[in-house]
Amino acid sequence: MQTRVRFAPSPTGQVHIGNIRTAIFNWLYARHTGGKFLLRIEDTDRERSTSEAVTQLLAELSWLGLDFDDTPLYQSSRLAEHVEHSKSLVDCGHAYPYKKGEGGEVVLFRIPWNADSFPNIRDCQSASIALHPDVPVRINANGLSYAQVSKKGKPMPTESCLAGFRELEIYDTDRAKIFSLEPVVDEILAGGQTVSLENVSEMTFLRREVYFNDLIKGELSKPLDSMKDLVIVRSDGTPVFHLANVVDDCHQNITHIIRGDDHIENTYRHVLLFQALGAAPPTYAHLPMIINAQGKPYSKRDGDAYLGEFRDNGYLADAVLNYLTLLGWSPGEDLEKMNRGELIERFTLDRVQSSPAQMDINKLQHMNGLYIPELGEADFIQEVRAVVKNEPWGKDVDSNYFSAVARLMQSRTKLYSQAKEWGYFFEEDISFDEKFVRKHLQKPGIAEALLEIGESLRSTPFELPSIEQAIHDVTDKRDIKQGKLNMPLRIALTGVPTGAGIYEIILLLGEETVLRRLNHAITVLCTSG
Ligand code: GLU
Repeated sequence: MQTRVRFAPSPTGQVHIGNIRTAIFNWLYARHTGGKFLLRIEDTDRERSTSEAVTQLLAELSWLGLDFDDTPLYQSSRLAEHVEHSKSLVDCGHAYPYKKGEGGEVVLFRIPWNADSFPNIRDCQSASIALHPDVPVRINANGLSYAQVSKKGKPMPTESCLAGFRELEIYDTDRAKIFSLEPVVDEILAGGQTVSLENVSEMTFLRREVYFNDLIKGELSKPLDSMKDLVIVRSDGTPVFHLANVVDDCHQNITHIIRGDDHIENTYRHVLLFQALGAAPPTYAHLPMIINAQGKPYSKRDGDAYLGEFRDNGYLADAVLNYLTLLGWSPGEDLEKMNRGELIERFTLDRVQSSPAQMDINKLQHMNGLYIPELGEADFIQEVRAVVKNEPWGKDVDSNYFSAVARLMQSRTKLYSQAKEWGYFFEEDISFDEKFVRKHLQKPGIAEALLEIGESLRSTPFELPSIEQAIHDVTDKRDIKQGKLNMPLRIALTGVPTGAGIYEIILLLGEETVLRRLNHAITVLCTSG
C-alpha cells in the first residue's frame, strides 16, 4: 500500500521550528517510501486562523523545498462532512447530545462501553479505588462522578466515562455492597436515569485501557477510567479539532500520522474515533519534543524559534533542513552533513529517538557554515549584497570590490548576516574596541614593529607573496616568532580579531588604506591609554 502522510498545521501565527520539523519528517518519510506528502490546513478555528498565516506557511514550505502532492486541503471547506459524521456517530450510538448546566447542547463521543468493535481496548486487572464518604457517587449515561481520598484525607472530585468501570461494584462505609453496574448498565446508557449513592467507601472494577503501538515510542496505553466522554461538536454546532482531524485523516486515506508527542493524549481518543467511524486507525509515530538547554520546551524565549526568523537571519534552507532533521533523528555512523538526496535515502522512522531533542543554535550555525562555502559564488554575492545594503557603508559599494571581498569571506561565513561586519573593507574610518587595542597593540615593541612593516610594505610590490615576505622579514629581523605580529596587524587594520587571512586582507584593503591605518595605530592606538 502506498504511504500517505500529511502535515496538518493550524495557521494561527508564525511557523515554529517544532511544527516545521514535523513537516520535514513527514516529507522525508513520504519521499523515502515513494508515497504522498499531503498538506492539510486545519483552519477551523475561525478566530485564530488567518490568511496571512496560511500565505506565510506556504512560502516557508516552499523556501525549505518541502513540496507537497495534490492541492492543499482546507479543513474549513469540510465542515458539512464533519457535522454529517457526528450525526452518524450519534445514530449508531457512539455519540450523544448532552446538555450540562447553563451551556447549550454539545455532542459527546462515548468512550465505548462495549468494546467488541474496538480492538484497541483491552482488559487489564481488577482495580479498586477508596472513596470519600462525604461525597456521593453519581452515575448516569455521561459517566461517573465521585471523590477519591487525598493523602490528607480530603475529597478529590473526579469525573470519568462509564466505560472505565466494567464490573463496577460499590461498597458503603459498613463494607456492604450497595451497587453493581452490569445489571443496570443498559438502562443507564439508554439515558434519563441518575444513580446516586451515599456513605460510600470503596469501588472495585475491571480496569480496561486503550492502547496503540507507536513506531517511535513503542506501546502506549491509557486506562479508560482516567478518560471522559469527549466533546466532538460544540454547542454552536461547530465540530472540534478531534472530530475534524480524524474525519479528514479518513477522507485523505492517511496511512501514517507523524506528529509531535504533545498529541499522544489526543491519539488515545482518536484511535477510538477511527474505530467508531468504521476505519482502522493509521500507524502513529509521535516525534520527541524539541527542548532548550534546561530541558524545557524550546520557545521564543530561547532565541529564534520561528522558521521565518532563521531565513531572515541568514540561514540557508538546506542547512536548516539538514539540522532540523537531526533534531530527533540520526542515520548512525556519526553522519551529520547530508544533502536532500542523502536525507531522503537514509530517513527511516525506526531511527527517530523517543527522548527529547535539544535545540543547539551553535550547532545550527556550524551546519550553516558548512553549507555556505558550497554555494555558487554568484548566489553568495547576491545574498550578502542584500544583507549589507542597509549598512551605512553598504549602499553604494563598488561591485567588483564587493565581489572580491565576498569571495575572500565566503568560506569563513557562517551566516549571511555576518556580512554586516565587513565594514572595515569599505569604510574610511573604522572603530576599535578598547579591549583589543589594549591587549594587542599597547605592548612593548608593537609600534616599532608596525612601523617597520609599513616601511617594508612601501618598498615592495603590493602583491600577495611580497606582502607576506615583507611581514616575515620584520618578524625575522626582530627575532619574533612567525605569526606573532598577525594579531596586532589585524587589530590595527580591521579593528576585529577574526576574519580572513591577514595577507589577503592587506592585499584587498590596498596600500593606501593599509599605510594610513598602520600610521593611526602607531601614532594613536599603541600609545593611548
Ligand atoms: N492542527 C494540529 C496541530 O497543528 C494537527 C495535529 C496533527 O498533526 O494531527 O497541532
